[in-house]
Amino acid sequence: MQVTSKRPNNALTHKNALCPTPEQVDYFKRACEAARRVWNWALNEGNRQYAAGGRPNAMALKKQFNAIKYTDPQWLDENGRPWLQDIHRDAHAQPFRNLAKAWGRFFADLKEGKKAHKPRFKKKGRCRDSFYVANDKFTLNGKTIRLPRIGEVAMTEELRFAGKILGATVSRTADRWFVAIQVEVPDAQFYRRRTSHGVNGVDLGIKAVATISSGEVIEAPKPLKAALRRLKIRSRRLSRKLEAAKKAAGFERRARLPKGTRLPVSNNRRKSAAALARLHARIANIRADFTHKLTTRLCRENQALVIEDLNVKGMLENEKLARAISDVGFGMLRSQLEYKARRYGTHLITADRWYPSSRLCSICGWKNEALTLTDRKWVCAQCGAHHDRDLNAALNLKRLATETALPVASPTSNGGAASGTIPAVVGKVTPVRYDDTSGQEENSAHLCALS
Ligand SMILES: [Zn+2]
Repeated sequence: MQVTSKRPNNALTHKNALCPTPEQVDYFKRACEAARRVWNWALNEGNRQYAAGGRPNAMALKKQFNAIKYTDPQWLDENGRPWLQDIHRDAHAQPFRNLAKAWGRFFADLKEGKKAHKPRFKKKGRCRDSFYVANDKFTLNGKTIRLPRIGEVAMTEELRFAGKILGATVSRTADRWFVAIQVEVPDAQFYRRRTSHGVNGVDLGIKAVATISSGEVIEAPKPLKAALRRLKIRSRRLSRKLEAAKKAAGFERRARLPKGTRLPVSNNRRKSAAALARLHARIANIRADFTHKLTTRLCRENQALVIEDLNVKGMLENEKLARAISDVGFGMLRSQLEYKARRYGTHLITADRWYPSSRLCSICGWKNEALTLTDRKWVCAQCGAHHDRDLNAALNLKRLATETALPVASPTSNGGAASGTIPAVVGKVTPVRYDDTSGQEENSAHLCALS
């Protein structure tokens, strides 16, 4: 196993639902638990090394762990047996590799002076349950996958992609199990053909999820709103049952429980929690479906797309906006746009964090310093144009993809650092040519769309 091996560029992932037997589910749960506990063990050791002034080395930790995993009392079951022996080793080896990556990111961010986050402990019931299987440890045969230790598990679909299989991750969402298989596909399958070659700016917001400079306004899916309402109801139901359990155990209703306290779990509370988890999964599915369809369409129809630097926008403007952004899954939207833009040969441009896309008049370039977040419409004081806030912003973003980007008339109001250094805004933008050939390779192979 090489820590330095990079994920190849043409990698696609097919996440497939599994139909495991109860025995297989039991194994999955134990393998996830092994992965979680090994992660926590390694993180704890790594933190200790870091506190002592060292830099944690995940691979050295793995060696250290291998020496104790079948003998140390904390890794033995109640009969004194090393329970990790029952779990395939990939499940307890991969956490070291993941941890190496997480520490790597942490130190890279530190070095760049960014806000760095140390890897965190995985709390039971709060973390994503998953474990890894290396590519030489499983085989696929139509709609079944043969996994180490448990044999054949039924999948709901055949693998969509033909190519070199890189690995698989088994994970749980609510009460369902999935396997995500990574495949490196040939170029002819990876690159997709665009249907048109537009150039558009996309303004992302709270009121409409996306406003495209073509004038199209994309709203969040209706089922999402209904499900979010239901989410409130179900969360309230569960928290009432939790409060009741606290009261029965002699605690105040809203008291924080001392660490390690285990309240008895009633059947009704278990059912309620399961219903809530299923709803969360459903909401995640609705969001994923929506963003996949939107991002596929945007990349398929455009040779150049301009979006804003969202993280910063959320942080800068206000908390409510940041929450709305995370509600619609804009992080997901952004990362999907990134990989799909590569597949469709679409030029994805991210506007600089200081680019005042909402404030500039998209016609004459006058900057509306007085614009507030609640102004949905405004009138340009210089040329008298009437603007819809979101469409105007989308039009300004679109300009960044062409040679007609507006000069910024005055320094931005965000911090004095920007005064006089505005060309950096435009410097980030690569002008694109309008061409009909689009630079894409002919691709006759039809693939299941990711949406
Ligand atoms: Zn104007």
